[in-house]
Parts: sequence; structure tokens; C-alpha cells
Amino acid sequence: MNYLCGMAKFFLRKKIGDRVVNGHPWIFGNELGDSEGVAEPGDIVEVYSYNGSFVGKGYINPASQIRIRLLTRDKSEVIDDRFFFNRIKEAWEYRKQIGYVENCRLIFGEADQLPALIIDKFNDYFVLQSLSLGIEKWKGAIVAALQKIFTPKGIYERNDVPVRTLEGMEQIKGFLSEPFDTNIIINENGLKVHVDIENGQKTGYFLDQQDNRRAIQHIVRGADVLEAFCYTGTFSLHAAQYGAKSTLGLDISENAVSVARRNAELNGYENICKFEAVNAFDVLKLWGKEGRRYDVVILDPPAFTKSRENIQKAITGYKEINLRAMKLVKPGGFLVTASCTNLVPPEMFLEIMGTAAKDARRTLRQVEWRTQAADHPILFNVPSTQYLKFLIAQVI
Ligand code: SAH
Repeated sequence: MNYLCGMAKFFLRKKIGDRVVNGHPWIFGNELGDSEGVAEPGDIVEVYSYNGSFVGKGYINPASQIRIRLLTRDKSEVIDDRFFFNRIKEAWEYRKQIGYVENCRLIFGEADQLPALIIDKFNDYFVLQSLSLGIEKWKGAIVAALQKIFTPKGIYERNDVPVRTLEGMEQIKGFLSEPFDTNIIINENGLKVHVDIENGQKTGYFLDQQDNRRAIQHIVRGADVLEAFCYTGTFSLHAAQYGAKSTLGLDISENAVSVARRNAELNGYENICKFEAVNAFDVLKLWGKEGRRYDVVILDPPAFTKSRENIQKAITGYKEINLRAMKLVKPGGFLVTASCTNLVPPEMFLEIMGTAAKDARRTLRQVEWRTQAADHPILFNVPSTQYLKFLIAQVI
């Protein structure tokens, strides 16, 4: 056998930080020095420190700034179909252990040691995103593992995501199993919710708020609730279930609003939950001036920016919308507010809230300070795994 046929080896430069050695799985192109052997894009390679000690094995993509993503730190672990089966099985056991049964983010990329892989489980249906070339190559093995562990009713890929172009891949979506009806109904916290797997946002549904939706239970009883950026209206549905007098959900997407209305009907809340397709920035400003007031205002806006260079845009967006929301809250009422980008760290978000409150001449009294649902685990050595901030505060 030709000695070059073995796995290619890559050596980290001497002068790089401890990030990789301390547990972060990404290795950037400029962190690599010497190499031995040949690797095709997507191949599994071995990584060593500059002095030759083993760091891990992962997949490589010369076209990506994140050149290598590590899959294991165990030299004896073989990366094959069985490896992916085991990782997915472990992830499922972990979700069950922490209390998830029907719906959960089954694989949360780096936090499940499967970088760039997302799998959402909607009861018997699975939605997958393979966001790097290296993980794309194992898609067949991943689908086979899902089939074996769950015997699902359907598997779908929502790879219509721009980040794939950074890896030189096309954006696609489609069935990874026999075709099935992609409009499904899931159960969440005792409610029924329509999920459009094919055309909904992201994987079709935001599971990351599933624990937080329960957190509004005590503040919405008998309340008039305004929910901006409501998507398919799940916070409103929860509010109705917990005894709200009325809810008004706002989203710029006509499609989201029509699903939200169908969700209200599905649960018998069509008289309590109303929805309007409008720009939340415009109407919150207008209604504030008109003197409308609510007992509870809920905000779950989009990320506002995808890049660190544009962080100011996100800061301005969050401040502006929260300021407008605070003005709409009756004295002693509540603001429920979230931010879903890891580019705004928790301390920064709280600081923004402080500034908004000051400008609104209101005082915030914290009820709860939370993060994403526990099925999206936060891995301490990979800061980007913490991304959701969720605050419930009384507005005095
Ligand atoms: N709270 C929702 C998720 C919201 S995602 C849930 O738990 O499922 C953010 C939503 O904001 C998207 O549905 C998007 O359509 C909407 N959106 C974006 N810009 C908006 C704007 N200016 N006004 C109103 N809605 C907007």
C-alpha cells in the first residue's frame, strides 16, 4: 500500500491561542502550518499541534475559512457510518434524559459534537440542515441512522440557507425519505400547532422558545397582550391557554399571520387571539403616540444582522423596538423580550434594555432572565452555542 494513502495530517501553527486545544472544534486556515499527505475537500483528516501531539480528527474544506471542523478528540475513534449513528443515538438519549419526548432539536451542531449539522425532531418528522461540505458528505449515513433509530414518517432537508455558499455548496430543499405531506401538526405544552416543514421559516418552527413560552404563564392571566414578531402566533396561543383576555399578534409576513390564525382556530381561541400582517416598527410607534396600552407586550424580533461588522444595526434595532414596546406597557405591566443572535452577548442585551428603559423613562424589574430551550445545549468552550436571550421584566 502506498504510504500516502493514509489519512492526511495537518499541524497547527505554534503561535495560535488555546481555543482549539481547550475544546473549540473550528480550525481556521491561518491557524494551520505544515501538512503531510493529500486530502480532498470533505475528507476526514488528522490534526496535530505544532509539536506533534494529537488534537483530533475532523473534516476539511479548503474552500471554507473554517478549514477543519473536528468531530472527535479520540485518536482511536473511526469516523464511519457507525460513528454518526452513535452520535445521533447519544444526542437522543440526552434529550430524553432532560425531559424532551415529542419535539426537540435533536442535533445542535457543535454542542452535539457534530459541527454544522442541525436536526429538528417534530414528533415523527425530521428536518435536517447540513451546513458544511464535510457534513454534507455523510448525509446518507445520517439519514440511515435516523431511519434506524426512529422509523420516522418523514425526513426533509431545509438546506435553502445562504451559509452553504460559504462552503461552495448550492441551496436546496427536498425529501430525504419517501415524500409526505409537509404540513404537519405538532403538540406543544398542550397546544396544537401547524408546522409547514417545506415553506416555514428556518426548519419550519422555532423550537428554541418552547421552554420560554411556558415562562409567561403567571403574567398573562386576564391580560390584554400584544405580541410583535409573532410568526405563527405561538406566544399568543400560550397566553390564551394561560388565561389572557385578548391577544394581538403582529408579523410582517402574510403567510405567518395566516398560519397563526389557523393555529388560533385549531385550539378554539379564535375569539381571543387576533393577528395582523404589519410592520411592527411602524405600528408600535404609532400606537404609542395614540395612547394604546397593554398589560403585556411580547417581542421576539429577527436577528437584524448576520455579521459582526453590522452589530450597530442590531443594537439600534433592539433598542428602538424595546423602547417603543415599553411605552405601550401599562405601569406595572410586563415586557417579554428576546434576542436571537449570538452576535449580541447577554451583557450587551441587558445594557441595551437599560438604555431603552432610561429613554422611555421607565424602570425595569426583572422577573426572569433565560436563554434558549435546553434541547439547544450551550457548550461552554463554544461561545456561539449560546445565542438566545429572553427577559421577562415588569415595567414600572
Ligand atoms: N416568536 C416566534 C418567532 C419569531 S421569528 C416563535 O416563537 O415562533 C421573527 C419574526 O419576525 C418572523 O416571523 C418575521 O417574519 C418577523 N418580522 C421581521 N421583521 C418584522 C417587522 N418589521 N415587523 C413585524 N414582523 C417582522
